[in-house]
Amino acid sequence: MLPSAPKAPFLVFAAPDIQEAEIAEVEACLRSGWLGTGPRVARFEADFAAYKGTGAKHVAGVNSCTAALHVGMVAADIEPGSEVITTPLTFCATVNSILHADLVPVLADVDPITQNIDPDAIEAAITPRTRAIMPVHFAGRPCDMDRIMAIARKHRLLVIEDCAHAIETEYRGAKAGTFGDLGCFSFYVTKNVITGEGGMIVGRDPELIARARMLALHGMSKDAWHRFGDSGYRHYQVMECGFKYNMMDLQAAIGLHQLARVEQGWERRRAIWSMYDQALGELPVRLPAPPEPDTRHAFHLYTVMVEKERAGIDRDAFLDRMNQQGVGTGVHYLSVAEHPYYRERFGWNPEQWPNAMRIGRNTVSLPLSPKLQDADVARVVDAVKETLAN
Ligand SMILES: *Cc1c(COP(=O)(O)O)cnc(C)c1O
Repeated sequence: MLPSAPKAPFLVFAAPDIQEAEIAEVEACLRSGWLGTGPRVARFEADFAAYKGTGAKHVAGVNSCTAALHVGMVAADIEPGSEVITTPLTFCATVNSILHADLVPVLADVDPITQNIDPDAIEAAITPRTRAIMPVHFAGRPCDMDRIMAIARKHRLLVIEDCAHAIETEYRGAKAGTFGDLGCFSFYVTKNVITGEGGMIVGRDPELIARARMLALHGMSKDAWHRFGDSGYRHYQVMECGFKYNMMDLQAAIGLHQLARVEQGWERRRAIWSMYDQALGELPVRLPAPPEPDTRHAFHLYTVMVEKERAGIDRDAFLDRMNQQGVGTGVHYLSVAEHPYYRERFGWNPEQWPNAMRIGRNTVSLPLSPKLQDADVARVVDAVKETLAN
């Protein structure tokens, strides 16, 4: 074999943008000796509440969005066995959190263009046992919150927003996570603000958030930071059988500086988004629908539809060829109903939610991270063209 030219390094699908500020903060946190829930979590919570503004007066940091969704539903005291309507086009954690809260997930199909839960499908899925709606602002595009909130008011339902993609998302002047009773955010490594693992619950009702916070730390009445502070020993009381879901200062140390750069990251992803729009517009694939007027898209995922009849290649072959060219991709998501666990437990069949099924079988997410240089974006575009040309 002839020696080949040095290959460009593999382009990771969602590379986190870690900078010196968070590295120094993690070091300072370690040197302080306080790694667990403490002053840095309190600061991160205050900063996040300030970013979200008036709709999110009360917040609680936790160790994942999955934990936020679960503990939020437990705190809301939804009667076991009640139904929660959500989208089939989501990460499994959305549905698992409903099950962990002893509730019953009911899927409502998505709109084929926006890929968000369809309000008409929500209405059609309501039964006397429905107690909550859990919309997911898919890819960072806000759901139709006017209609969803109207449905919730009419049927007296709770609304718990899965905002894992939607830190920067706004809809008609209000921020994602502030429409419903609870908004749940993720700081997982691929998300727009990261802490490694981490999550946040926001809400308007101080008692609901206080209960969620208590449940996230064993159901104890005072957190360790207060117990072991310099104001003297204080006994704690276990008020409920809670969970181990608290956020650590080590995580918040990363999040503080990530959050400070959230708008910078958003600007960069928006620029990459429009580079993709321009470069891929003529190709035989469907690009994401443009953001709607009077909304703010969080530009979390850039998803293209690879339909075999049009593209001449099926989605899985597309993924393989991108990979061979050194470009990492993602799939967001196979419909929840494709997974064996839910099929077996609930008898679900993907055909019941045809829009989510089709999207799940055709969608590809291209790299979209503020870490990407213009040359990286050009490489992705070339790989897409090459893949479709063959
Ligand atoms: C990532 C994600 C979650 C779970 O977030 P974690 O912080 O990893 O628990 C939930 N829902 C959606 C839509 C997600 O993308």
